[in-house]
Amino acid sequence: MNNTITIAVSKGRIFKEALPLLAASGIVPLDDPATSRKLVLDTNQPDVKLVIIRASDVPTYVEYGAADLGVAGKDVLMEYEGDGLYEPLDLQIARCRLMLAGPPGAATGQTRLRIATKYVHSTRRYFAEQGKQVEIIKLYGSMELAPLVRLADLIVDLVDTGNTLKANGLAPLEHIADISSRLIVNKASMKMKHARVNAFVRGMAEAVEQRAGGK
Ligand code: AMP
Repeated sequence: MNNTITIAVSKGRIFKEALPLLAASGIVPLDDPATSRKLVLDTNQPDVKLVIIRASDVPTYVEYGAADLGVAGKDVLMEYEGDGLYEPLDLQIARCRLMLAGPPGAATGQTRLRIATKYVHSTRRYFAEQGKQVEIIKLYGSMELAPLVRLADLIVDLVDTGNTLKANGLAPLEHIADISSRLIVNKASMKMKHARVNAFVRGMAEAVEQRAGGK
C-alpha cells in the first residue's frame, strides 16, 4: 500500500503561517516555494510530501484523494460544495473576519442591495438567514473597487487590519464569520491510513496548543 502522506497547502500567507506548526510536528520542507518552482515539495520525512496550490483548489485535491490532508481557510471551505471532507482541527492561523463592508454609514437594510464578492455562497446564506433578498455580483478579486465605480452598493470580503478598506474609503459594516485555517482530511485516507493520519492530526493539535500557550 502507498504509505506516503501528501499534504496540500495554500500558497502564500497560509503556507508561511503553517510552517512553524508543521516544524513543531516534525515536518520541514526541503525546498522553499518562494524561491523554488517545484509544486511538490519533499520534506525531511521521506514519506511526507507537500503540494503547494491555490487556496480554492485545496478542498478539491483533498476530496478526490490527490492529497490525504490539506490546510485551507474557512472562507474557502464555506464556499466549497463537495461533501467528502473531514475537518478535524482549527489551526488558528491566518485569522481574519468575513465582513460586509461599504461606504461608511451605508444602509444595509434596504431591498435589492447589490453586493460584489468572491464569497457568493457565504453571502447568499448570510442574507437568506435574515430574510433579505440581495443581488450578488461574483468577482475574483479587488472587491473594494466595486462600490467606488458603482458596480455594487456593498462588498463581502476578508478583513484583517481594515487597512485595505480604509485606503479605498470603505468601512466594515457587519461581521459575517470569524475565519482561520483548518486541517482537512480525505475520508478514504482517514480509514486506509488511519494510524499515520491520526498521528499527524495529533501532532498538529499539540503544535496549535503549544503556540496558543506561548502567546
Ligand atoms: P487588511 O487590509 O489587513 O484588512 O487585509 C485585507 C486584504 O487582505 C483583503 O484583500 C483580504 O482578501 C486579504 N486577507 C486578509 N486576511 C486574509 C487571510 N487570513 N487569508 C486570505 N486573505 C486575507
